Amino acid sequence: MSKIQMTTPLVEMDGDEMTRILWQIIKDELLLPFIDLKTEYYDLGLEHRNETDDKVTVESAEATKKYGVAVKCATITPNAARMTEYNLKEMWKSPNGTIRAILDGTVFRAPIVVKGIDPNVKTWKKPITIARHAYGDVYKNTEMRIPAAGKVELVYTNAEGVEERALVHTFNGPGVVQGQHNIDDSIESFAHSCFKFALDTKQDLWFATKDTISKKYDHRFKDIFQEIFDKEYKDAFEKAGIEYFYTLIDDAVARVMKSEGGFIWACKNYDGDVMSDMISSAFGSLAMMTSVLVSPAGYYEYEAAHGTVQRHYYKHLKGEETSTNSVATIFAWTGALRKRGELDNIPELSSFADKLEKACIKTIEDGKMTKDLALITSIESPTVLNSRDFIIEIRKTLESL
Ligand code: NAP
Ligand code: MG
Repeated sequence: MSKIQMTTPLVEMDGDEMTRILWQIIKDELLLPFIDLKTEYYDLGLEHRNETDDKVTVESAEATKKYGVAVKCATITPNAARMTEYNLKEMWKSPNGTIRAILDGTVFRAPIVVKGIDPNVKTWKKPITIARHAYGDVYKNTEMRIPAAGKVELVYTNAEGVEERALVHTFNGPGVVQGQHNIDDSIESFAHSCFKFALDTKQDLWFATKDTISKKYDHRFKDIFQEIFDKEYKDAFEKAGIEYFYTLIDDAVARVMKSEGGFIWACKNYDGDVMSDMISSAFGSLAMMTSVLVSPAGYYEYEAAHGTVQRHYYKHLKGEETSTNSVATIFAWTGALRKRGELDNIPELSSFADKLEKACIKTIEDGKMTKDLALITSIESPTVLNSRDFIIEIRKTLESL
């Protein structure tokens, strides 16, 4: 059988620990035998980031701008313990943060739904994708403890030095105060990314804020989304048969719990932080959650939502057997390959991605899985496989499809 040819390389960002081990097995067993894989390789493993003074991370993000599609392995975000463990020159920043700052955009997280790993919410039949705005609000706030009675005001000074003031509160005693901000530019890119992703994946888009209470701040989000939708996306949505739906955040939460799933839920920064943990745990497992960064300029970076699975890696180093779930990492590859296929008009590449995803799902539904899933599945007496054997089993399924 001849291998599927590619025309444009994927930007390949290798990573750390257990996911780095899985990365190689996935390539050897599931990709290289079937695809004439073209990638531009960047080693984002912590050792190489340290050697290059983290320049490799910046270069990999720049390459993503050049080629449009990247696939990233999980990477260590250094902390004090990692400084000693890897003898680091500096406490390098989170690669994801660096890449996001260069590409801009919105992170979309979606669970991989499999029969036998049942969501805790009975009505959920299809995945719910969370789109989290990743700038501002409470994450870039300024806070103060107010020690005693006094007045707190917001003061805006424009370029000419003219002030505008608004009273926050007249305190009669001690309390707390907080200042938050966001910027139109960032909200606009968030909106564009959400509308584009909805069209890309042919799913309805829900957006919710608390605009009835926050009549200026949250209302600005609502208005920006509506203006951009009306001007640039309304017709395309109609043509695709999908809907943009705005509602109050409380109403959205209630509707989500009664829905069948199958839509994108755009959330402000804090809502997205909280709700994505709720959605991922209610769908079953962090190891079954995909993540893609979509930039307003149309660049895509695919990865797994989980980290480097450090605990399993230490077992692996001691020569002990591991049972680490590779599905989210495989789906990062299939997401990137499918997108490359679409952009370069190589339908075989996109259908290979579909087939590999089907093979992962079928393998699990046939009762062969890693330990994390075996612990929560409703399938009776599942076969628990080690990290490598699970991937080999997926290859067998793939070859049988
Ligand atoms: P983690 O790697 O997500 O793992 C946390 C725990 O979740 C694991 O110990 C394991 O539980 C379970 N788990 C996660 N993924 C799994 C998988 N594929 N298969 C089976 N079980 C899985 O988080 P962490 O241990 O807190 O972080 C480790 C490193 O990852 C850190 O250095 C952090 O900086 C980095 N990180 C990177 C990213 C990223 O690159 N996007 C994201 C998050 C964290 P059991 O041990 O109970 O089996
Ligand atoms: Mg969180």
